[in-house]
This record gives sequence, C-alpha cells and structure tokens, in this order.
Amino acid sequence: MDSGLKGRGGAGFSTGLKWSFVPKDIKPCYLCCNADESEPGTFSNRYVLEKNPHLLIEGILICCYAMGIETAYIYIRGEFTLGKKMLDAAIKEAYEKGYLGKDIRGTGLNVDIYSHPGAGAYICGEETGLIESLEGKRGQPRNKPPFPAVAGVFGKPTVVQNVETLCNLPFIVGNGVEWYTQMGPTPNTGTKLYCISGDVNEPGVYELELGLTCSELIEVAGGLRGEEVKAVIPGGSSAPILTHYELDTRLDFTALTLAKSMLGSGGIIVMNETRNIVDCLLNIMKFYAHESCGQCTPCRWGTPWVRDIVQRIADGNGQKKSVANNIANVDTMTWNTICVFGIAVSWPAVSYMRKFRPEFEAALREGKLVTLPVAEATVPPE
Ligand code: NAD
Ligand code: SF4
Repeated sequence: MDSGLKGRGGAGFSTGLKWSFVPKDIKPCYLCCNADESEPGTFSNRYVLEKNPHLLIEGILICCYAMGIETAYIYIRGEFTLGKKMLDAAIKEAYEKGYLGKDIRGTGLNVDIYSHPGAGAYICGEETGLIESLEGKRGQPRNKPPFPAVAGVFGKPTVVQNVETLCNLPFIVGNGVEWYTQMGPTPNTGTKLYCISGDVNEPGVYELELGLTCSELIEVAGGLRGEEVKAVIPGGSSAPILTHYELDTRLDFTALTLAKSMLGSGGIIVMNETRNIVDCLLNIMKFYAHESCGQCTPCRWGTPWVRDIVQRIADGNGQKKSVANNIANVDTMTWNTICVFGIAVSWPAVSYMRKFRPEFEAALREGKLVTLPVAEATVPPE
C-alpha cells in the first residue's frame, strides 16, 4: 500500500487496497494475471511476455507469497502466439530450477502457475468475463459486487492483476518503497509502460516515469510525423480524446482524470493534421459494435446504433440532428450496463463529437468526409 502502486491495466485502482479486500479466513484464494491485452493502441503486456516473462513469474511469486496463494492463472490473449510460447518456456524453466512447484527452494512455499489462452474476445479482458471464460463458460462479465477479491475464480477470493502491475513488484521489493515513490508526481508513483503509436517517428513501448506531458512523450517517441498534432488518444481507445489545446496535460492517473479523460491502459495514439476525426470515431465504433458481449440492452443495441449513425455521417447521409441525437444515445449507455464496456463506448464517442464538432458538422453540410485544418476542426476549451 505504501508504494502507492496503482493497477496498470486501465482503472488505476490501488493494488494494496485491492489486496486488503481479500478475506483472510477463506481458502483457497487465487491469483489471476490478466494478460488478455486487447485495448486498441495497447501492446505493453505483449512486449513483456515476449521479452521478459521471468519478470512476470517473479511478480506472481511475490504476490502469492504476500497473499498466501498457491495457484496462479495467467489468462493470455489467444493471438499472442509468441508471447505464450515464451511464457510457457519460462514457466517450464522456473519449475526445472525449483522456483515453482512444491516447497520452493526449501522455503515451504508452494506455487503453481497455469497459462490459459483466450479465444479472441475483447470482453474476456474485463476481469469477471475473464473469470467466466477461465471457468469454461461463455466470457460474459458478472454483476459487481461481489468483486473478485471476495468471490472470483470458482467462487473463491481472487486477486486479478494486469501483467504490468505484477511486474512492478520485484522492483518495489528489491529497491524499497522510498526508491519507488521518488518516481512520478505524488500520488502517481512509479513508471508506466507507455505504448506510443500513430503519427510519431519512433512508435513503440517506452518505460518512463509517470507524469510526462503529451508533448514531452511525443518528443520521446522521435517527434511528430507531420506538421501539427490534431488529437491524442491518451489511454487506449476507451479514453476521451485530447485536442491540440491539451498537449500540456500530464499523462498520469490524476491529471488525466482532472482533464476528464483517463490514462487507461497507457495506449497513446497520436494523430496529425491529415487525420479525419469522424473517420477515426467510425473505426473505433466498428470495433466496439463487434465486441459487445450482448448481455445488456443499452450496449447490445446502443453500440451498433452509434456505429451506424457515425457511418451515415461519414457516408454523407447523416441528418442535421445526427450529432446531438448520437450524444443523447450514448449518454444512456453510461453507467447503465453490467460492465464498463458501455462507458468505454460512450466516453470517447461524446468527447470526439463535442471536441471536434466542426468536423462532424462539415461532413453533414458537405455530404462527405471533410478534413478541416487543426484550428478549425477543434472547439476551443471553455
Ligand atoms: P474498475 O474500476 O471497476 O475496477 C478496478 C479494479 O479494482 C478491479 O480489479 C476491481 O475488482 C477492483 N475493485 C474496485 N472496487 C472494488 C471494491 N469495492 N472491492 C474490491 N475490489 C474492487 O475497473 P475495471 O472494469 O476493472 O477496468 C476498467 C479499465 O480497463 C478501463 O479503464 C480501461 O481503460 C481498461 N481496459 C484495459 C484493457 C487492456 O487491454 N489493458 C482493455 C479494455 C479496457
Ligand atoms: Fe456485455 Fe456490453 Fe453489458 Fe459489458 S456492457 S456486459 S460488454 S453487453
């Protein structure tokens, strides 16, 4: 808890607090590592699994030791063929060297790790959808509460953590809390694996202290490819978009929440002046409409509805009130669904349509996609 470590999968929930919710008198208790990384623009888990799976195993062992857990599952995205191969080889190696299994190196600690591939559904990255899938059922999210910390895998207390969160543990334990908390602006301690893609010269995964601004991060990634930044998606496609007016925003949990966006999974997508925001939203909405699990009516109906309205605007068949109607539609999906998928659809959609309204209106007016100059495409902040 003292390290201030926040979950790196997206929500930024305090890791120590989550562990404190696990009842001490119910056994067995499980660890479930979420490696079902599917958020568009996010590829840091894949990088770790392919390049350094032993770090994850070490993090899992520390968590298991701290929580008295003997069984850990790693739910890995099915498409991560190389990552799974590297992970399985590392697990095998760890068993052979006596770092996994019974009475680990004479310490009395028992830990088994099982890797389990998903089958390509985005929603299995949602922790309770993941648990359902792991149990052999259809990967549909559960109502919360109860949270997995109390009733998770097979109804038992389960700690669910992202790959990156667990990979922080060896460094915190090895170097101490003081060392860790010196990094990042309080309370956003430590580093983040930022995934930078889009219109930058050197896209990739960068481990940096939390708290750099958007502009600084673009420079770290080799600078902008293009003339001007038009927009930045700061935390995977579920995060509300930032405009060129917001490039001084710090990319950490607190600053992005204050900017009415979120750090999410740390997937930063940079767009230059050639990008069309209507087209960009259409692309994202096609993805979400395909990935809704279909359990809740607002999401099952609303997501394809939003996609279709944006498609009509892009095709030049939109109606005058399309943007206003669409904002009203997606608002009904916010906080009215079983899981946060409904929010992941509504938040970006509303932010694109509000902040880049002139580009949507130009498409309605001209009957085709119109890419406006950056200054004209954006609504200035109030
Ligand atoms: P959440 O805020 O509901 O929960 C965060 C974590 O805290 C969960 O593990 C939850 O169980 C725990 N928690 C919260 N309140 C609790 C309580 N009262 N008692 C016990 N435990 C509690 O968010 P979420 O649905 O887990 O995650 C949503 C985020 O996932 C989004 O912000 C999005 O950015 C991100 N996301 C990431 C990816 C990816 O590929 N990494 C994909 C899709 C979405
Ligand atoms: Fe499924 Fe969407 Fe409901 Fe989540 S919000 S449970 S994805 S229908």
